[in-house]
Amino acid sequence: MSSSPSILAVVPPSPLQQFRRYGLRVTDLSDQLWCEQRLALSLARGKQETSEMKQGKERHQALHEEITEIVRVRPETRADIWLLHFFNAWAALVQLQQQGICREIPVFGNLGDLWVVGVIDQVQSNEDHRLVLSDTKTRKKPSLPTLAQKRTTQLQMMLYHRLWSQLAQKPDHYAVFDAISLPVDVEASPSFVAQLSEHTLPSPKPFEMLQYALDAFAQALPLDPQMCISYEWQQDHSLLGIDSFSFDADWFEKHLQNSLPFWHGERSPLGVSHQDAWKCRFCEFAPECPVRPR
Ligand code: SF4
Repeated sequence: MSSSPSILAVVPPSPLQQFRRYGLRVTDLSDQLWCEQRLALSLARGKQETSEMKQGKERHQALHEEITEIVRVRPETRADIWLLHFFNAWAALVQLQQQGICREIPVFGNLGDLWVVGVIDQVQSNEDHRLVLSDTKTRKKPSLPTLAQKRTTQLQMMLYHRLWSQLAQKPDHYAVFDAISLPVDVEASPSFVAQLSEHTLPSPKPFEMLQYALDAFAQALPLDPQMCISYEWQQDHSLLGIDSFSFDADWFEKHLQNSLPFWHGERSPLGVSHQDAWKCRFCEFAPECPVRPR
């Protein structure tokens, strides 16, 4: 008896499988708000670091150095990287408790069904004994950004706010290790542990270090729903303005739910609306973009 040939449908990998196997960055989700097609092209081609981005990074580092001694270490494995994230989160929270301020705090967790990691620029306690998340953005020109740019940064801050709130509720430790695809008994490399051990490392084991970090999040003061972004001019660091805003739960959930199908490959990336076509004038992918509004 002859059998008819089988047909094998090859499903292309989703952006999550192709580019973010170990999870998304907070900035992936905020870039997606600006233009999903631009995000998709930058994932495929790589993101070019502009001089503005480089100067922004240097400014963040200078601000961090104002309150913390920065030590260079070299993680070699994924276990080393996570040990470092947990240690940095714990150390920042100890500093927050002692000095009322800390900078560059790693946060992580599930948003929808996506695993997301990020680093908060600054957290400071206020007179109401609440913690205020803030960020400093540098501007090439001495002017404030457009509303669309402000909304993108506000979303970035709301993502940090949500991740911190979840960490303060002590997520299941085993679920965290499941999400980062590491066995709970994983060891960091001895040479890396030796580098960190010079700096009050509570535990060399990543799973135990996670417990220290989660305890510190759970003991921290509650978050203020209000957040702020300081915009300063790159040239002389003069303050151009402060954007204060509150966590907008409806808008946040709506964006998150709209974002998921793209990451799971359930739809093609969307371009900007006709109303936002002005963004294309500043886009490095404009000449090759298949969905640019005409
Ligand atoms: S050209 Fe416009 S629609 Fe296309 S990726 Fe750039 S911003 Fe998005």
